[in-house]
This record gives sequence, C-alpha cells and structure tokens, in this order.
Amino acid sequence: MNHPFHASGGTAVVVGASLSGLMSALALSHIGMNVTVLERSNGKDRGGAALPVAEGLLRRLMGRDAVGRTLPSGPQAWADVHSALRAIVETDSRIRVRTLERVARVDQDEDAAWAVTEGGEVVTGDVVVGADGHASVVRRHVAPDRPEAMFAGYLIWLGIVDERELAAAPWPAQLAILEERDYCLNAYYLPGADGSQAAGRRRLGFGWYDAGRNDLLRASGAVVGDVVRRTLRADDLTEATYRALMDEAEAIWPDPWREAILHCLARRTVIGTPVGEYMPPRLSHGRVCLVGDAAHVPSPMTGKGFDASAWDAQALAGALEAGRVRGDVGGALRRYESMRLDDARELVSSGYAFSRSFARCGSPARRDASGHR
Ligand SMILES: Cc1cc2nc3c(=O)[nH]c(=O)nc-3n(C[C@H](O)[C@H](O)[C@H](O)COP(=O)(O)OP(=O)(O)OC[C@H]3O[C@@H](n4cnc5c(N)ncnc54)[C@H](O)[C@@H]3O)c2cc1C
Repeated sequence: MNHPFHASGGTAVVVGASLSGLMSALALSHIGMNVTVLERSNGKDRGGAALPVAEGLLRRLMGRDAVGRTLPSGPQAWADVHSALRAIVETDSRIRVRTLERVARVDQDEDAAWAVTEGGEVVTGDVVVGADGHASVVRRHVAPDRPEAMFAGYLIWLGIVDERELAAAPWPAQLAILEERDYCLNAYYLPGADGSQAAGRRRLGFGWYDAGRNDLLRASGAVVGDVVRRTLRADDLTEATYRALMDEAEAIWPDPWREAILHCLARRTVIGTPVGEYMPPRLSHGRVCLVGDAAHVPSPMTGKGFDASAWDAQALAGALEAGRVRGDVGGALRRYESMRLDDARELVSSGYAFSRSFARCGSPARRDASGHR
C-alpha cells in the first residue's frame, strides 16, 4: 500500500465537510493533492453563529479567486459561508465530497493513513485530516490521552432574524456586547440573505450567553458528564422554558435586541449550543493531523475559531507542499504542528478567563446571592 507522496500530487482524506474541512480541501487541492472529504451529515446548512470572514480568504487558501464565486468578507452568517465554500468545492475536480459517511476510526502505518467508515469501508490516503469538530473521532487517534473537549459551564442561545420583520428602530452600527445581571449578549448585523448590506434588508444575529440552564443541558443529554454532546433544538425546549426565556429577555435586554430575541423565541428558531473548550496537547501524529475545532476549541467569546481554522488549512497545505519535496509526510505534519500549536493554545487560553468567571454566574450560590433567578 505504498503511496508515492513525493512523485504525484498525493492524496488526502479529510473527515468532516464543515468550514474547516472545506477550507482544508481547497488548500490541499491548491497544492495538487487529490482530496476525499467524508461527511456524516447530508451536507445541509445549519443555523447559528455568525463568523468574521477575513479579506482575501479564498486567495490565501486557493492562491486565486474562485471563478464566478465569491465569499464576501466581514461578519457573515455561518450558513452563507458554508454554502459559498461548498459551491466552490463542487467546481474543483480534485475534491470529492461524500456525504452520509460517518467515520468510526482512523489508523495508519508507515506508508499510508486511512479512515474506516461505520459501513466498514476503508478510505486511504497519504494523510488523514481530522476536521470533524469539537467531538472529533480523529482526535482520539492523535491525542488519546486528551480526546474530549470539556463543557465550559454555560450555553449560548443563537438566533438570526430578517431586519424587515422587526419594527423600525435606531439601529446601532456595530457589534454590540451587552452585560446585564448574570448574562452577556453579543449582537451583530449580517448581510441579508441576498447579500445586501442596505439598512432594512440586513439580518440581525445574536448570541445570548446563559450559565443558568445547566440542569436542562444535563437532563436533555446535551451535556453528559463534562462533555458536550449536542445542541438544544426546538424539540428539547418545553413551553415553560420558552416562557421563562421570553420573560427574561423582556426584563433584561433593551430594544432592538429584545425584539429580535422575542421574535426568534416566538417562532421557535432559537438554538442553544453548550460551550465546550479544548486545549490541544498536539496537532499531529504520524500521517494524521487535526484542523479547526477538532484541533482547538476556544470559547466563542474569543470570536476567532473560524479565523484560526482558516490559518490551520493554509499552514497545513504550506507544510505538506514543503514536505513533498522530501517525500516526508510525518515531518511535514510535525512542521504544521510547530506552525500552529502555540497560537492555538494561546487562543484557547484567551477564552478561559471569560469562561471561568461567566460559568460561576450559573452556580446556585451566585444565583441565590444575586436573587435574579
Ligand atoms: C455557538 C458558537 C459560536 C461561534 N462563534 C464564532 C465567532 O463568533 N467567530 C468565530 O470565528 N468562530 C466562532 N465559532 C467557531 C466556528 O464556528 C468554528 O471554529 C469553525 O466553524 C470551524 O468549525 P469546524 O469546521 O472545525 O467544525 P464543525 O463546524 O463542528 O464541523 C465538523 C464537521 O464534521 C462532521 N463530522 C463530525 N464527526 C464526523 C464523523 N465521525 N464522520 C464524518 N463527519 C463527521 C460534522 O457533521 C461537521 O460537518 C463559534 C462556534 C460556536 C459553536
């Protein structure tokens, strides 16, 4: 099973077709690798967070702009970034995305690395890249001594609403960060679904940090022990929880954020994401490496997880391109790790202070003392 990595462009198996996986696939294709991306879901968009897209991101990853496609810079909705990257990937003949393929484990020998799907198929390449998010399966191979991201003690309620569905208001121009009682709110403008930045046609997104619902997270199985398992969706929330959230939003947040939050709660379009954190001890092992949230999970309060994922993709391709001259995949991935590990650790560490103090807000002692809940 010998793969002449140095002679051809080489092959990569990327686990996960979300933002990190797609960006890595584009960067690896750019250096001439043939890439198979395995994604457990059907690849549909999911709602949620907004992300800051750096100017010139595609050019950095692909060495050029995408023909006929754009990825606007500035704050963008997660779903818009995902569908733009997905559309670009689909035009790339060196990348094949296979959906509904859940990877059960990965392994390697001297000559190759491979992912084994739950259906038992073995998909082999010169490298395997774990882009499979905060609960990464690939991480178990790279860092068996520290495989899990840990629950940080709070969740974020996320929602996005069309500006035109809300009453006219004096809209603040920039990102707003509000702290009230034991809560924190990030609220931001996003372009409209048609990309419009014009007032009245934009969307308003929010992330409401809440450390008071850990019982709900545990009872619903969204958090098990110290590990984040999944996001809370409409089916997980009772009428009583919606009522309590609406009462709290009414009491705490000023307009226009209050109206936006109430609008999303009334339509049951809010999701509750438990926050996890992962401090990486390493990013590679032999022919297998990690990128994005598989590699490092900072608190979303840092606002830098996406940007770090883009740098991972770029550094990985740079290291592999240099390593190809010597045909040394392991050395190339060690170089990738040396390029990214310190920054990744610093990023995760930068979210700790917020997480530690915010999570304490939800402790029974704090709530009793404040008397707010
Ligand atoms: C609530 C929240 C708010 C955030 N806010 C910001 C922000 O403001 N700014 C910012 O820069 N970043 C933010 N981030 C982080 C940012 O979204 C991520 O860092 C970035 O999107 C990279 O994610 P990812 O692609 O590595 O992982 P994910 O998006 O988790 O993708 C992992 C992919 O792998 C797939 N997968 C998982 N396991 C398997 C398997 N076994 N087999 C096959 N496929 C698998 C999943 O289905 C998924 O498609 C936020 C994150 C969260 C959760």
